[in-house]
Amino acid sequence: MTRIVRAARGTQLTAKNWQTEAAMRMLHNNLDPEVAERPQDLVVYGGTGKAARNWASFDAITHSLTTLERDETLLVQSGKPVGVFRTHEWAPRVLIANSNLVGDWANWPEFRRLESLGLTMYGQMTAGSWIYIGTQGILQGTYETFAAVADKRFGGTLAGTLTLTAGLGGMGGAQPLAVTMNGGVALVIECDPARAQRRVQERYLDEIATDLDDAVIRVSNARRQRKALSVGLIGNAAEVLPKLLAIGLDPEIVTDQTSAHDPLAYLPRGIAVEDWADYAAKKPDEFTDRSRESMAEHVGAMLGFLDKGAEVFDYGNSLRGEAKLGGCERAFDFPGFVPAYIRPLFCEGKGPFRWAALSGDPKDIAATDRAIIDLFPENESLRRWIRMASERVAFQGLPARICWLGYGERHLAGLRFNEMVASGELSAPVVIGRDHLDSGSVASPYRETESMADGSDAIADWPLLNALLNTASGATWVSIHHGGGVGMGRSIHAGQVCVADGTELAAQKIERVLTNDPGTGVIRHVDAGYDRATEVAAERGVRIPMHEA
Ligand code: NAD
Repeated sequence: MTRIVRAARGTQLTAKNWQTEAAMRMLHNNLDPEVAERPQDLVVYGGTGKAARNWASFDAITHSLTTLERDETLLVQSGKPVGVFRTHEWAPRVLIANSNLVGDWANWPEFRRLESLGLTMYGQMTAGSWIYIGTQGILQGTYETFAAVADKRFGGTLAGTLTLTAGLGGMGGAQPLAVTMNGGVALVIECDPARAQRRVQERYLDEIATDLDDAVIRVSNARRQRKALSVGLIGNAAEVLPKLLAIGLDPEIVTDQTSAHDPLAYLPRGIAVEDWADYAAKKPDEFTDRSRESMAEHVGAMLGFLDKGAEVFDYGNSLRGEAKLGGCERAFDFPGFVPAYIRPLFCEGKGPFRWAALSGDPKDIAATDRAIIDLFPENESLRRWIRMASERVAFQGLPARICWLGYGERHLAGLRFNEMVASGELSAPVVIGRDHLDSGSVASPYRETESMADGSDAIADWPLLNALLNTASGATWVSIHHGGGVGMGRSIHAGQVCVADGTELAAQKIERVLTNDPGTGVIRHVDAGYDRATEVAAERGVRIPMHEA
């Protein structure tokens, strides 16, 4: 029998207080069929990222959260509840560790072996830490990345520019809408017509061209008229990009979001979509070689656009690494998106900040949207995002919102939300958390910490310090994960969630957590030698002992 799980709505408590009720609702919300990819298997997103180890563990966590006192803490080991201890009211109600393995054992085969024995689970980032909010997070991150490209190179808008990219899957499908939200034109190559069609239905993609010439005409006209437009073109990126380069198309921006991180999930040239799965399953080694060769061609064309002056970047899918294995020597001539655009934001402790309304009432999110605009009236990009998100983003599960805020900003938002709960302006408490695409809580040398100024990409002390500090500061639940986003052996990262329940105690905790959490992002970048981070620390009063002595 299929189990359907959905978070409770309204103000009726099942748990003993809002702190534990919030953790329970967010665990349940992660498995809402509107939110999770495969709820029957407890899989939330990102391949096999799970919310709990198995249904017995899920039931035991739910039971513990229902009975937990305000001075007790539940420990969760890779999705399984393993102990309840007496702590105190400022301590987190839940402490979570997911998918962690000792260094020499931190690889997929060993993880799979342990997983098959039922001893661990893959927690991804916000799956096993109970703060996933559906595709809004992806859209916003992609919007923010393209906004940063616009700021760096095109005077703050993509109007009058063409972005050439590929991949219209779960993540990649956000690219066309993110580009048009920034005023630009996007041409997106996708080999699977069903994927492209789905993005049109979901209103993430405006139209699909009939062939290459038609696509070039449509995007060129829109670019000339400075009109925002996204066009899909069915084809293989490894074939289409070299052709576009050869005919002299001159996109301002080139990137990619095919699933290049897994060579079996990237379609090599000369193979039909219908034959893909069968070929990959029967001859994985031969398929991998062909896939890497095609990625080398694909990246070769991207380098051609780079040489002609385009802004080219890797969008966190390991395309450069795989192309290099396929023989493209210059694959790393263009940067990853974090060092190229996001790091200056990380220096300010900026990153994705999200919240969800435990009432289940969209009116609560609309009220918080207004509060955010009210709090930061000078931030034009933030206003534009909130306005567009409120018009175009459909909620999945509990109504939620995400936006980028930095050090010195997040606690203001958290405190305002807490006041709104206290005054009754919001009909129930809200939870406030974040992604693990974050400035101070992630060590991930292929993404968040690629090319750190001091070469400290793989130092993983920072996410551990972040988790300890959030625990000491009063977060409601704190998690430490391994392998999220980029896979086993490639990342260590931490999460925190606070609950604004309208009490004075919640206000004190929120002020500390939402100041200290982004504060670790600032100090991490000061330590790595970034001048902007040092300025931010000085301007906003972040204490750095080595600068005080
Ligand atoms: P997905 O598997 O849902 O979609 C990939 C799409 O690429 C599919 O629609 C597929 O048909 C298409 N494709 C594959 N080979 C192609 C080819 N040769 N030509 C044209 N189209 C091709 O994957 P997704 O969830 O969209 O993720 C895309 C990539 O982004 C993954 O590698 C993922 O790990 C990475 N990623 C990046 C970030 C980030 O922060 N930037 C975050 C998470 C994941």
